Amino acid sequence: ADLSGLIKAGLRDVPDFPEEGVVFKDITPLLAEPASLRAVVDEIAGRYEKGAVDAVLGLEARGFILGAPVALELGAGFVPVRKAGKLPRETHRASYDLEYGSATVEMHADAVSPGSRVLIVDDVLATGGTARAAVELVDKAGGTVLGFSVLVELGFLQGRRKLTDVEPHALAVL
Ligand code: 5GP
Repeated sequence: ADLSGLIKAGLRDVPDFPEEGVVFKDITPLLAEPASLRAVVDEIAGRYEKGAVDAVLGLEARGFILGAPVALELGAGFVPVRKAGKLPRETHRASYDLEYGSATVEMHADAVSPGSRVLIVDDVLATGGTARAAVELVDKAGGTVLGFSVLVELGFLQGRRKLTDVEPHALAVL
């Protein structure tokens, strides 16, 4: 099957998670399938020359799972973007609106150097708030966002509209 089909086959819909009315896309069956895991990491990393990326930013938590092997393949470093309050040293922070309230993500202030070329990786692009905040963190550090890659884009939520400076790359669109 093509990669998009492989990904769709590896997702499970979980109704009413994490709250009523939301259908959560569970990616763990895909991660558990050796050929699928290999294929998605190769596909994300394969869009860049080795040496063209300085840092891969992974978004907590499933972006860590995908981002680290992508970084290894590219010969890049790995930088975690975490929910507020988890990182021990000085951070850059970016907030975004949720349906109720807001959320904040952080990155160590010295994790991305000015001029660094950064690839951002996550599992799902939904409303785009997380992705936009991650781009903001790279901007604050003076880095350059080369790309933003996700396994799955939930197209009906139109998250890519929030990403004005980056064209998201999705391996599958639902
Ligand atoms: P957004 O900020 O685009 O609304 O949400 C994206 C973030 O929430 C990502 O970090 C992603 O991991 C998580 N997320 C939102 N919806 C889903 C979903 O249906 N499945 C999974 N696996 N993650 C989701």
